[in-house]
Amino acid sequence: MTLPRFTYHPDPLATGSVIAATTVCVSCHQARGYVYTGPVYAEEEYDAEICPWCIADGSASARLDATFTDEDGIGGGGEWDAVPPAVIDEVSRRTPGFNGWQQEQWWTHCGDAAQFLGRAGHAELSAAGAQAIAAIQDSTGLDDGPAWDHFLGALRKDRSPTAYLFRCTQCGQLGGYQDAD
Ligand SMILES: [Zn+2]
Ligand SMILES: [Zn+2]
Repeated sequence: MTLPRFTYHPDPLATGSVIAATTVCVSCHQARGYVYTGPVYAEEEYDAEICPWCIADGSASARLDATFTDEDGIGGGGEWDAVPPAVIDEVSRRTPGFNGWQQEQWWTHCGDAAQFLGRAGHAELSAAGAQAIAAIQDSTGLDDGPAWDHFLGALRKDRSPTAYLFRCTQCGQLGGYQDAD
């Protein structure tokens, strides 16, 4: 079965926000082979029991009164580009979110939300190239030097501190931020 297409989260299987599972979805009551593992902001608690199809068509958000990314985190609370309400709606209600150590932020650029590429450590950032490394360095406010070198070397995909890598939907530029537990 082909997963639904998410403009702002192109490969949720690769990022781990969607996994293969036989869990019955709390929204459509079907076991569709995949469930969402990221954060759910709702009255009730949901733990890996919403299918990606119910996220994509907005039915899970509507039925459960849920969002999957905090609206205030889209644009980093005003740190990055402002985006139209329709984009906020699509990212928060119809796009799988991701798990960060702190409140998740969604990078924006060119007046649009960016595509989430995944969690990244030193190895993943190096593979992504100089632009990715520069973007994360910029988000730390650290200049070139021992402090930055140490921080870059300590970044891990699955252990704090972690970088979150995005690609601008409009111009393709890489960006993102980092946090720690
Ligand atoms: Zn479902
Ligand atoms: Zn851009």
